[in-house]
Amino acid sequence: MPLPLSGRVAVVTGAASGIGAATARLLAERGAKVALLARRQARLDELADAVSAAGGEAIALPVDVTDPDALARAAAAVRERIGTADLVVAAAGSMLTAPFTTGRTHEWQRMIDTNLTGLVGTVHAFTPQLTEAAAAGRVADVVTLSSIASTAIAPNFALYCATKAAVSHLGRNLRTEFGPLGIRITTLEPGVVDTELMEHLDDPAASDWLQGLIKTIDVLTADDIAELVAFAAAQPPHVNLSQITVLPTQQA
Ligand code: NDP
Repeated sequence: MPLPLSGRVAVVTGAASGIGAATARLLAERGAKVALLARRQARLDELADAVSAAGGEAIALPVDVTDPDALARAAAAVRERIGTADLVVAAAGSMLTAPFTTGRTHEWQRMIDTNLTGLVGTVHAFTPQLTEAAAAGRVADVVTLSSIASTAIAPNFALYCATKAAVSHLGRNLRTEFGPLGIRITTLEPGVVDTELMEHLDDPAASDWLQGLIKTIDVLTADDIAELVAFAAAQPPHVNLSQITVLPTQQA
């Protein structure tokens, strides 16, 4: 029996760790050829090797998603090496928190650059391939990693929450343009997932709160999110799982 995603050509940003890495691994297991994008080449090479050892196909493309030229080169490399992309998962992101009054403008800029500009740049770089795939009658998907933070109100997280609200609203609006072209957009809004994301926090209050949650409740895993991406991508072409909120059962 063919695998549910065989014939698909996937691109996953943020594939060096966490949700991106787990998603790339699962998409390859389900039959997709996968391009792995992030900045840490050694991590991507290791994952590409693991995918091919398991009988799948993956290529490592070190890219900083804040660099549009690097994204354009990656898009060309995907087309040349594994074919026209029809499934783009934009998972690259960063979460840095501090009271607004501390004015850590460089951290705000980094989140805006990665979570919003980088995500928009990723979708832009692969739009010609998605359009081409859809026009040829193939299923075409964009999956974006927003967060429950897109609607949450949380002290010290204002900029992170704002970038995620922008990602969710981008999806709602882009759907009006992409839907008629046959390209689906799925916006994922997870609650707490145990990944490296928290390790970049140096604000003790935010860090203690999140680490406390991770220790006291059964939080989501990156594999849980990967399953949702694979599920959404395997739906029939007329079914767009447009927005998925997923929380740990014990997260309020
Ligand atoms: P990780 O920190 O494990 O993953 C983030 C990934 O993004 C890394 O692979 C990192 O790789 C990559 N990345 C960061 N900056 C860039 C950049 N400039 N260019 C290219 N790649 C970049 O965290 P998660 O897996 O948890 O996060 C994935 C997404 O899920 C994020 O958008 C996050 O906001 C979102 N999310 C996470 C939740 C959680 O609780 N963990 C909950 C809700 C949403 P490298 O450093 O090698 O570039």
